[in-house]
Amino acid sequence: MKWKPEHNIFFEMSACAGSCINGPKAARATSVARRRYDVIQYAKPATEFPRRPSLAIAQDYPASPVARNEYGELQLRDALRTVGKYSAEDELNCGGCGYDTCRDFARALIPRNAERMMCAAYTRKLAQKKANALLQKMPSAVVIVDDDLNIIECNSNFVHLFAAEEEPAKNFEGRALSAVMPFSYLFNRVLDSDEDIVGHDIRYQRGILTTSIFTIEPHAVMCGIFRDISEPIVQKEQIIDRAREVIQKNLKTVQQIAYLLGENAADSEIILNSIVRSFTPKDGDDPIVREQQ
Ligand code: SF4
Repeated sequence: MKWKPEHNIFFEMSACAGSCINGPKAARATSVARRRYDVIQYAKPATEFPRRPSLAIAQDYPASPVARNEYGELQLRDALRTVGKYSAEDELNCGGCGYDTCRDFARALIPRNAERMMCAAYTRKLAQKKANALLQKMPSAVVIVDDDLNIIECNSNFVHLFAAEEEPAKNFEGRALSAVMPFSYLFNRVLDSDEDIVGHDIRYQRGILTTSIFTIEPHAVMCGIFRDISEPIVQKEQIIDRAREVIQKNLKTVQQIAYLLGENAADSEIILNSIVRSFTPKDGDDPIVREQQ
């Protein structure tokens, strides 16, 4: 049937999967089938409802617009700077924060009616900066590639590890992985099989690279981490880890010995006390027996 504007339409604006039968607030005491059956039994066909309500339920609600805060240009610029907007080009006016423009958002920021994290562009930039900082500070060589095995991002350790000796270390971003390092086939393997490679040792030049390659976005983005375990610094870390392990084991053993010794000492004390008590003369004991002792 074609809808006409004079027809009434009922929308059930359910936002959850399963709604009243299997939604997050639905009772769980019975099965879904039973709950569906109950709803069907309870529901009445539309013909049973009066076409028009017998009571007049219409009501007018006049709009009560919120007073708009007005601030000077300097105040607005200061507020915009806190979300990384230093010029008019930074004001994207995308509406992601729920306000029509970045300036409206700034007007809400000043009296603290809004929070900086509501700006989608600012949150994304912040997350990107944090990820970059982590990537650059990692002691391993890290590379992120797309499904064509082109480098999206890599850290300076990756550049130093794979830069050819004759070429100065430079930015690898945008370059084909196969042109930069000889193990791009491992990324292909992960891309095809969807199975991560973890702790795979590869001989490279004079060292051994422990390699892990894993998927970030299935069939789209992958990350590779390489660490030369033959480096003295890594060996040192391993020795320190082992030493810590041995210290922990020793401590446990000492604690067990101390516990056993303590238990033993308590038992000995009880036995010795009972011996002392049995040999201590009581009032009225025979003095000859005491002299013989
Ligand atoms: S989400 Fe950020 S960039 Fe987008 S309109 Fe709001 S303040 Fe401006």
